[in-house]
Amino acid sequence: MRIAIAGMFHETHSFAPRTTEWPEFVDPSGWPRLQRPATLIEELRHTAVPSAGAIKVAEDVGVTLLPLSWAFANPAGPVSAEAFERLSALILADLQAAMEGGRLDGVYLDLHGAMLTLHHPDAEGELLRRLRAIVGPDLPIAVSLDPHCNLTLAMVKHSDLVTPFRAYPHVDMKEAGARAMQLLLSRIARGAPFAKAYRQLDFLIPLTSQCTLVPPMSEVMAARQTISAKLGATELALCFGFPYADFADCGCALAAYGVTQDAADAAADALLRELKLREVDFAQPILPADQAVAEALRRAGGAGPVLIADTQDNPGGGGHGDTTGLLKELIAQRAEGAVLGLINDAESAAACHAAGEGATLSLSLGGKSDGVPLSVEARVLKLTDGRFMCTGPMVGGNWCDLGPSALIGIGGVAVIVTSRKTQAYDQALFRHVGIEPASQRILALKSSVHFRADFQPISSAVVIAAAPGPVVADPAVLPFRHLRPGLRLRPGDNRRTG
Ligand SMILES: [Zn+2]
Repeated sequence: MRIAIAGMFHETHSFAPRTTEWPEFVDPSGWPRLQRPATLIEELRHTAVPSAGAIKVAEDVGVTLLPLSWAFANPAGPVSAEAFERLSALILADLQAAMEGGRLDGVYLDLHGAMLTLHHPDAEGELLRRLRAIVGPDLPIAVSLDPHCNLTLAMVKHSDLVTPFRAYPHVDMKEAGARAMQLLLSRIARGAPFAKAYRQLDFLIPLTSQCTLVPPMSEVMAARQTISAKLGATELALCFGFPYADFADCGCALAAYGVTQDAADAAADALLRELKLREVDFAQPILPADQAVAEALRRAGGAGPVLIADTQDNPGGGGHGDTTGLLKELIAQRAEGAVLGLINDAESAAACHAAGEGATLSLSLGGKSDGVPLSVEARVLKLTDGRFMCTGPMVGGNWCDLGPSALIGIGGVAVIVTSRKTQAYDQALFRHVGIEPASQRILALKSSVHFRADFQPISSAVVIAAAPGPVVADPAVLPFRHLRPGLRLRPGDNRRTG
């Protein structure tokens, strides 16, 4: 059996400060670089990406994998037309070459599902449409997705099956890839498509309320499993949505697959009901930065650090990882023993390297993305090349290359300054500058939810802070122009678009 494998991974924030260009896909920090057919299997096999799980399942049953191209860029603003067209052209040309080598039995795609370009707001739907046009209507296509995808009807229509990760933090990326490959194999064995049902939720779910470790989403995911088993769904794919994409299909959606249309419809409707039942529980207030720091100081001193999540500047949601609002509060409130991971500022990192370890220097730190840097007197505590292997449950096995980096001290507050951005979701970020995370009083993390996988087990408390940044806790404040009529911008709110 011959199965093609390819990937395209981007989570697009329509209002993020930087657009996403081709070089970001060629060499993204913290994730595998652009893969072509000659390297894809060996380079992805030992990483945390979904393809790794799919590769294992396929090889275990003797499938011949036909690698195409695969690329990831870190979340940021809209993807340029050039970048999307180049990646699409690579994948389709590689597919063509694979088909010339013999009959194809199926295609596995490793997609994020929230890529947006100004020409193709549903970039994955467009890629699938192009791919389907080449392979024809009958060739099975299965897709693994990030649950932050904005699942569209086109994505469901042009594929046979989609299956997202079930966990946020995403500790199950490889499992989802493995499941997609298993579903593809059962679709191939069956010789006929499954029935499909697609539904969209009519309100946006804020990012911090999508965490599957706590209610209401933990309850929804339990209900998903029960419904799927009870109604015999082949797959019940719940996608939470990425609520910062300015296009018609932004938001939570789901797809159900079954042997009959009735079974698929029943499972889809039952899961949609579970989401709607809990609407008011998805509205969860978070603290402004000053109150969040005060709260962290009140709770510090227990067994393990207090974590402050700087959710609105989360580099994993499109933030640049350089806003200074939370840092300013940590310094102002003299949060001794606090360590901030990170400030993405290549200029300041270079200045630290020029000054050398032990030096003291003036920095205009961070704020390159929003024009609000912080003037500080800093001591250079440690210099690094920013390269380390991640070790945590989510991205363990991924290499991180943040460029020249430094640990600096500003009074009693320490800051990791890097030349490239990454979400603070792995303890290795701290260890690579000589900081043992579990021994600190306070860890301030540029992350919304993913930090919980590796940091919550060593912490004594978690505080979510609303400091400056584009990954706003309340998407209703964003200047959307293209959402579909009738969509509500926050849970429990009666205002609708259109
Ligand atoms: Zn995600």
